Amino acid sequence: MRRLALETPLYEALGAKSPYVRRFEALGLKTVGDLLWHFPARYEDFSKIYTIAELEPGQQATVQAAVEDVRSRHTRRGLSIVEATLADETGSIRAIWFNQPYVASTLRPGRIANFAAKVAISEESELYLAHPAYEIIKSTVNDLHPETRHTARLVPVYPETRGITSRGIRFVMQTILRRAQLAKEWIPEAILAKLQFPEINRALAAIHFPPTMDHAAIARKRFDFENIFLLHLFNFEQKSKLAKENAAAIATDIGLIKAILAKLPFELTQSQKQSLWEIIKDLEKSKPMNRLLQGDVGSGKTIVAAIAAIAASEKKYQTAFMAPTEILARQHFQTMTKLLERITEHAKPVVGLLTASSAIVHYEGKVESKVTKEAFHKKVADGEVDIVLGTHSLIQKSVAFKNLGLVVVDEQHRFGVRQRQALLQNIAAPAQNGTPTQNDGHGARPHGGTQKAKRLIPHFLSMSATPIPRTLMLTIFGDLDLSLITELPAGRKAIETKIISPLERQPTYNFVRKEIKNGRQAFVICPRIESTAEDADDQFKQLELKSVKEEYEKLSQKIFPDLRVAMLHGQMKAKEKEDVMRQFKNGEIDILVATSVIEVGVDIPNASIMMIEGADRFGLAQLYQFRGRVGRGEYQSHCFLLTDSASESTAARLQAILKAKNGFELAEQDLKLRGPGQFFGSVQTGFPDAAMNALQDAELVKTSREAASAVLATDPSLNSYQALKKRFEDFKKTIHRE
Ligand code: ADP
Ligand code: MG
Repeated sequence: MRRLALETPLYEALGAKSPYVRRFEALGLKTVGDLLWHFPARYEDFSKIYTIAELEPGQQATVQAAVEDVRSRHTRRGLSIVEATLADETGSIRAIWFNQPYVASTLRPGRIANFAAKVAISEESELYLAHPAYEIIKSTVNDLHPETRHTARLVPVYPETRGITSRGIRFVMQTILRRAQLAKEWIPEAILAKLQFPEINRALAAIHFPPTMDHAAIARKRFDFENIFLLHLFNFEQKSKLAKENAAAIATDIGLIKAILAKLPFELTQSQKQSLWEIIKDLEKSKPMNRLLQGDVGSGKTIVAAIAAIAASEKKYQTAFMAPTEILARQHFQTMTKLLERITEHAKPVVGLLTASSAIVHYEGKVESKVTKEAFHKKVADGEVDIVLGTHSLIQKSVAFKNLGLVVVDEQHRFGVRQRQALLQNIAAPAQNGTPTQNDGHGARPHGGTQKAKRLIPHFLSMSATPIPRTLMLTIFGDLDLSLITELPAGRKAIETKIISPLERQPTYNFVRKEIKNGRQAFVICPRIESTAEDADDQFKQLELKSVKEEYEKLSQKIFPDLRVAMLHGQMKAKEKEDVMRQFKNGEIDILVATSVIEVGVDIPNASIMMIEGADRFGLAQLYQFRGRVGRGEYQSHCFLLTDSASESTAARLQAILKAKNGFELAEQDLKLRGPGQFFGSVQTGFPDAAMNALQDAELVKTSREAASAVLATDPSLNSYQALKKRFEDFKKTIHRE
C-alpha cells in the first residue's frame, strides 16, 4: 500500500464520497497533515476493563462482555431504540442506543465486544450503559491488548465540532495515522535527546491514542515546545536583523538633561530616572534602539519619552511621537508645550501636532494653529518641526522627515506585533521619491543616489502600561529591550474599587453627586460587546454608540439634571471630541460619559470617579486601564464596577481587580483566566493560536528559549537543520498571514 503524503488532500485520502471530507474542511482541515495536527482537547479514561459486577453509577468504564440478545424497536414517534443484554462471568447489564439502528446488525448475539460508557442508573435503580461506544473483539476474551480506539483505553475527545463526533474523528484518525507517511523530524536531535521528547511520529501517535496519560502529556509538551521554540527563533531573527541595521548615534547632552530635570515641578522617581538613562545610553549607540518602556498607569512614562525627544532635538534629530488616539496625541502635545514653557532657557524645539482634521505648530511662545496639511508636511520634510505628535498615521501616511532620529509609540500594545514590524519596516525603507535624501551634515540620512550609502533607521521606543506577563514578554515581545518604571510618583492614593450590584446603584449615584459637589469630576464608561480598536466593524460601533447615547440621556435628564454631563465617542467629529476633552480638562464638565476612546492614556488629575457600566464585558487588562484614568492627582479616587451579571465566573474575574496589588499580578491572572489569545483584547498578535496557548507554561518558555538560542549560536543560517529551516519558513508565513 502506498503511504499517504502529509500534503495529500483528505478527499483523496478518504475518497471524495466520504461524508467526513466536507465536515473536516469546515474545520479548516484539508490535508492529511492538517488532520494529524488536529489534537484532542482531552482524554476519557476507559483504559481499565471492569467486570460488570464492579460497575458503579456515574463511572466511566469499559466492560468486556458477550452479547446475549439484541432487540430493536421504534417508539410511537419513530425513534429507533436498540437494546442489548451484555454479560460477562460476573453478571449482566442492559445497554441502550437511540437512533442507531445499525447497532443491531453489528452486535449479534454471541459476539464479544468492549463497551465503553458512563454507567447510568434508571429510575428503577437499575444500572445500564447509555450509548456505549463498542468494539468487537476479534481475539479471545483473555487477550487484553487488541487494537482498540474507542474502548479499553484512553480515548481522545476532540475539540467541539459541528456535525462530526469524536467517535467519527477517532475512526478516521486511526486509519490515517496508520496510512500516513512518516513526518520528517525537524527538532534537532540534540534537543530531543536533552529534553527527552518523543520523536515526531511517536508523539503524533501518542497524542491521539496515548497508552497512558503520561505519554499524552509529554507528546503535548513536545508540540507546545515546537510552537514556542519557533516564536523564539523568530524573535532572535528579528533582533539580529535589527542589529545589522545602523542608526544615528545621538549623543545627548547630560548637562541639558540635568537642567531640564531641575525645572520640572516634581522630581522624577528613581525608576523614571533609570529608564531615561537607559534610553539615553541607547540613543548614543549607532545601532537602533528597540526598547519597551513599561510602567503602570500613571507612573509617568510620557515625561521620560518627552525628555528623550527634546534631547534628540538639540542634536537636530526629529522625533515622531505616536499615540493610539487623537485625544491622546493632543494631550501629549499639551504636556509637551507646557513642559517647554518651563525649560525655554535650555531648549526650544518646535513641536507639531498632526491630526485627521488639522495641524498645529508650536514655536517658542507662539502657536500657529491654522496650518494646512501640505504646509505641515513641508515643514516636517524641511526639518523645521523637531517633535511631531500624532496617531500612527504619522508613519502610515508616509510623512517624510528630514532627519528622523527617534520614534516613540505610546500604548504600544494597542498597535499589535504585526504593526510594530510593519512600522519598523516602513521607517527602515530606503528613502523614496519625494523623501529628502540630502545629507544635512548631521549624517542621519544617506546621500541620494549613493548605492552603498549606509541606510540609517531611527531609534524606536515603545511605551505600554499593560503589564505584560513574563512569558509573553519573553516571547511575543522577545525582540525588545525592556525598561521598567516600578513605582508611582509619591503621594498617590490607592483607588478604592467596588463591585456595584443593581441594588446599590442609587446610593452610588448619591455618592458621585457628593464628590462632584466637592469639586471632583467623574467618568462613566459604557460597555461594548467585545473589545476592538477604532477600526472595528460598523455593526459593533452602532451598538457601542447606542449604549453611550442611552446612558448619556439617562444621566443628563433623569439622574443628574443639575450637573454638567457630556458625552464622548469615536464617531464624533475630531473638533467636537477636542472641545469636550478641553472642557472636561478645564473643569467645565462634571461627568463624561464615554466609550473606550478614553481607555488609554487620558490624564485628568481632578477626575476622581470612574464608573464602568457592564464591567463584566471588559477584559481585566482593559478594566485596569480604565481605572487608571483616576487616582492621578492628590484626591482619593473611586472606581465602581457595575454589573448585572450574577454568574460566578464574572464575580471571580471582577474580584481579581479588587484583589490584585498591581497591574502585573492582574495581568498574570487575566492570562490564566482568559488565555493568551484574549489577553490582549482586540490586539492581533499575529501569532498562531497554538503558539499563543502554549505560552502559559513558563518553564517551557524558558527551555525553548535556551534551545533556540543554542541552535542559532551554532548555526545562525539553520543550513545544517534543513527540516527545521523549512518548518520555520512555514511558521513565518502563518505569522504574516492576515
Ligand atoms: P502614564 O505612565 O500612565 O502615561 P503620565 O505620563 O500620563 O502617566 O503621567 C501621569 C501624571 O503624573 C501626569 O500628570 C504627570 O505630569 C505626572 N507625573 C509624572 N511623573 C511624575 C513624578 N515623578 N512625580 C509627580 N508627578 C508625576
Ligand atoms: Mg500614558
